[in-house]
Amino acid sequence: MALQDIIQRDKIYFMNVFGDRTPVCFQYGKGMYLWDTEGNKYCDFLAGIAVNALGHCHPRFINILKNQLDKVIHTSNLYYIEPQAKLAEMLVNISCADKVFFANSGAEANEGAIKLARIYYKKKNLPHKYEIITLKKSFHGRTLATLAATGQEKYQKPYSPLMPGFKHVEINDIAALKDAITPSTCAIMLELIQGESGVYPVNGEYLSEVKKICEENDLLLIFDEVQTGMGRTGEMFAYLHYGIEPDIFTLAKALGGGIPIGAVCAKEPVASAFAPGDHGSTFGGNPFACTAGIAVIDILLNEGLVENARKTGQYFMEQLTQLKNKYKAISEVRGKGLMIGMEFNNNDAKMIAKKLFEKGFLVGCIGTEILRFLPPLIVTKQDIDALINALDKVLSDY
Ligand SMILES: *Cc1c(COP(=O)(O)O)cnc(C)c1O
Repeated sequence: MALQDIIQRDKIYFMNVFGDRTPVCFQYGKGMYLWDTEGNKYCDFLAGIAVNALGHCHPRFINILKNQLDKVIHTSNLYYIEPQAKLAEMLVNISCADKVFFANSGAEANEGAIKLARIYYKKKNLPHKYEIITLKKSFHGRTLATLAATGQEKYQKPYSPLMPGFKHVEINDIAALKDAITPSTCAIMLELIQGESGVYPVNGEYLSEVKKICEENDLLLIFDEVQTGMGRTGEMFAYLHYGIEPDIFTLAKALGGGIPIGAVCAKEPVASAFAPGDHGSTFGGNPFACTAGIAVIDILLNEGLVENARKTGQYFMEQLTQLKNKYKAISEVRGKGLMIGMEFNNNDAKMIAKKLFEKGFLVGCIGTEILRFLPPLIVTKQDIDALINALDKVLSDY
């Protein structure tokens, strides 16, 4: 189908929540590259918003998926599922968690985390503890509960009244956090690097204080690692950079390498608060999705992709910082590993993203001021050099 026909059908038949998208439709992918309907080639520095950690159509990944398709796709959680048991074991082995539950998306994983925090205190005979403190500019998902958790009014406004039980405080502000705690508080939930709102990292001293406050006040610490998890930041999980373990953390995005899956990971005794009937899912943790998760972890580990994210991420950051020193329009470059934001002190980020697109590079854009880079973890220095050259040209041309 020609691009115009696709766009026309989208406008007529698809609910218009995404507005005018970038006018392109990708037909094929391989590694770092995508090809559109006209055969144009793009180098992908967005990875489907941090999803395609292995790049596009990684040969081993595709083989493993094809094999599973020939066996069985879905059986339901009424029965035991081999890939589900295996993926749960793998996640426990590589993280601080003792048990895992599988959902289908980031929002759903966070819903599970919120429910787990609430039921944990109900079962401890502290039913008055239900409120969760999250951060301003956070993003936890689009369901009604995760929308209430998300600290951004623009997403919440159309859906009031919001689900009760959430409070939002400024990032890296311990006093504000302490002020927000009441006898109703049961948990603090945060992203270690806020992704969706602009790549804002939590600082180390703040996180140490948060951990201490949680211990002193009997609060659970929940990390939303939906975007930062699975090697994105140069460690398998971002909490490893800080040396601070959460009671609960959530995963999604890269976990399935493009196949939808989310995970709620928790330490004991929190994990065992979920008893039969307390939570569930029809699709969650099905054989196909879990096979994808197993393959993603195997390939990340066997091909040294987390290490590659750390090394190439550092190189990328250095190169972007050199551009910052060269161009006054760039006010800051921040992030970790392959999760990087470049902030402009004008409103040109959208225009720059568009010009990069015309040069065959896909990058993200947050508002009008921030470019974000989330390349697949297979990215090489050469790919980064090509992007930097293109960006340098775009910046010197205006
Ligand atoms: C993307 C994202 C979500 C939502 O994930 P969905 O799969 O879109 O529901 C939640 N939290 C964070 C930190 C995210 O980046």
